[in-house]
Amino acid sequence: MKIAIIGAGVAGLATAARLASKGHEVHVFEANSYAGGKLSEFSLAVEGEKRQDALRIYRFDAGPSLFTMPQYIEDLFKAADVPINDYFSYSTMPDVCHYFWQDGTALTAWADQDKFAEEVQNKLNIKPLVVKKTLADAKRKYDLTGVIFLENSLHKAKTWLTAKVLKSLILMPTFDIFKTMNATHERLAEGHSKFVQLLNRFATYNGSNPYRASGMLSVIPHFEHGIGCFYPVGGMNTITQAVYNLGKTKGVQFHFNALVKEIIVENGQAKGLKVLNQEQRFDRIVSNMDVYFTYKKLLPHEKHPDRTLNQERSTSALIFYWGVKQSFPQLGLHNIFFSDNYKQEFDALERGDVGNDPTIYVNITSKLTPTDAPDACENWFVLINVPHNQGQDWQAITARTRKIVIKKMSKALNIDFQKLIEVEAILDPLSIEAKTASFSGALYGTSSNALMSAFMRHPNFSSSIEGLYFVGGSVHPGGGIPLALLSAKIVDDNFK
Ligand code: FAD
Repeated sequence: MKIAIIGAGVAGLATAARLASKGHEVHVFEANSYAGGKLSEFSLAVEGEKRQDALRIYRFDAGPSLFTMPQYIEDLFKAADVPINDYFSYSTMPDVCHYFWQDGTALTAWADQDKFAEEVQNKLNIKPLVVKKTLADAKRKYDLTGVIFLENSLHKAKTWLTAKVLKSLILMPTFDIFKTMNATHERLAEGHSKFVQLLNRFATYNGSNPYRASGMLSVIPHFEHGIGCFYPVGGMNTITQAVYNLGKTKGVQFHFNALVKEIIVENGQAKGLKVLNQEQRFDRIVSNMDVYFTYKKLLPHEKHPDRTLNQERSTSALIFYWGVKQSFPQLGLHNIFFSDNYKQEFDALERGDVGNDPTIYVNITSKLTPTDAPDACENWFVLINVPHNQGQDWQAITARTRKIVIKKMSKALNIDFQKLIEVEAILDPLSIEAKTASFSGALYGTSSNALMSAFMRHPNFSSSIEGLYFVGGSVHPGGGIPLALLSAKIVDDNFK
């Protein structure tokens, strides 16, 4: 078959590699001049320096910084029957994250559960059993539901007709689905506020609010504290490069600077694309474009699944990419500087605003890839959770938040931080939407705040237009690299 894929995000790339491995002729049309969408990279040179002067250049991963569940990229290479080691390698991180509170408490979350429990006991005075019980609960939820809800289509009868699913459905009431994630963590962490905050942070892994999202999301800590925390050797962008190169090896034809303007539908069947102003015929179409814009922009004359499209979006992010002229031995690859009042922070997000005391996430890949920053310097990726775009004044929010972040970092590190920033770039919800056509700049498509949100995501195929498939963070099973890779697998498994 001759197949067109709209978008070279990680899900589009993975789908292309999978379908080409099955012998299909696959064409990927990407509006940008590069592959990867959100999962891409860029460099900043210090002003006045030549770009070629590697000594004064900072490299940044543009979007994702956390690499979890590497089994899904391994599975992709297995499906293509290509040894992954020729294309991609990753290391296992002993430290998951470095946490800092404003009262001076600092804690390293170790991947090793005994070591983590000991650290929590030493720093937060919490019994190791509480930590172990909490992580065991997350593992139990994952073991009973992960494969069903993540690795399969929820819209095919065969998913539901197995003994394993039946067992999960019977145990459903024990998964805290009717409680909030925060209430679940309060119970598991026996009310220890700092540990609850640490656990609640995992809601942001899919852009949700722990005070609204279901307790089922208390499964997320297991991804890092159970399965592990990993770092792609050379940075996150090597994931994109690996999957892109795999596609090329399998004969995928990539067309960059190729904006798709319309999906051609005839008699209820997807028949082709209008790329720029040229029509091209295909047997099947896979859209890796945000499902909202796929309907609104590429299928304006078809009936739209309005209920699905109008669901609440996930949060977005405000990112400061800073070249920092100093290195900080107390920091690691992942660092979190918590707000004093987490509930207030999320209340502000609910109002469409950014509070005055946001939690700050700092990712520094030069800790592991020293060539990402000049000697004795660091490449800081500083992320603040912000609401998706609803027409806010992002210039004003960015200016205000930038000042707050610099003040907080100066205090936390006891230094005039502003003086250390030698290069800067900024990404906000508007630029996220402009760069990747992600509706309202949401990082993870629709939010997981509603109880039934997992069931409300758009399926990986169209039930009204034959031959049209959907992959990526805005459709089932959801946002984030692992789930985007799984959407490609689900399309591959159900491709007709
Ligand atoms: P996208 O990356 O959204 O790419 C879609 C592609 O389609 C784009 O390249 C776009 O140009 C192209 N396109 C759209 N419309 C058209 C058209 N009409 N014609 C041609 N091309 C088109 N995930 C994690 O797992 N870990 C993290 O730490 C993490 N952090 C994140 C931080 C940030 C700042 C962001 C933005 C995202 C983060 N995510 C993270 C989420 C993750 O990046 C996404 O879920 C994932 O990359 C989405 O991939 P995708 O395949 O859906 O497509």
